[in-house]
Amino acid sequence: MSADCLFCSIVAGRIPATIVDETETTLAFRDIVPVSPTHILVIPKQHVASLDEAAAVDPGIAADVISRCAHVAGIEGLSEGYRVVINNGPNGGQEVGHLHAHVLGGRAHSWPPG
Ligand code: AMP
Ligand code: ZN
Repeated sequence: MSADCLFCSIVAGRIPATIVDETETTLAFRDIVPVSPTHILVIPKQHVASLDEAAAVDPGIAADVISRCAHVAGIEGLSEGYRVVINNGPNGGQEVGHLHAHVLGGRAHSWPPG
């Protein structure tokens, strides 16, 4: 837990979020600025700053988060497919310093992205 971390505050219930799924180790909630009809963030409850940090500390954290993305896509009914995005560091466009995976669905997502 990091005192000044936005997503740790959501885990602690200090900041409200629309929670869609919870396990002992992960939390999934709707992104406040959705870029797709379905846009959910899946995070580890444990404070881990980034994918880099998860890979260094315990790769199981990343596996846990990614496999929960598939579960969330299932409960959201994204049977046509979905995209999972993890932004890492400044060039990756990471703005919140707590590992999170974006689950994007409900429309077609082209590749490569813009
Ligand atoms: P990233 O750029 O990968 O760090 O993504 C951070 C995401 O967190 C953005 O998509 C934001 O819209 C989202 N976000 C920021 N604050 C909140 C919040 N209080 N509740 C839900 N999502 C948030
Ligand atoms: Zn945190």
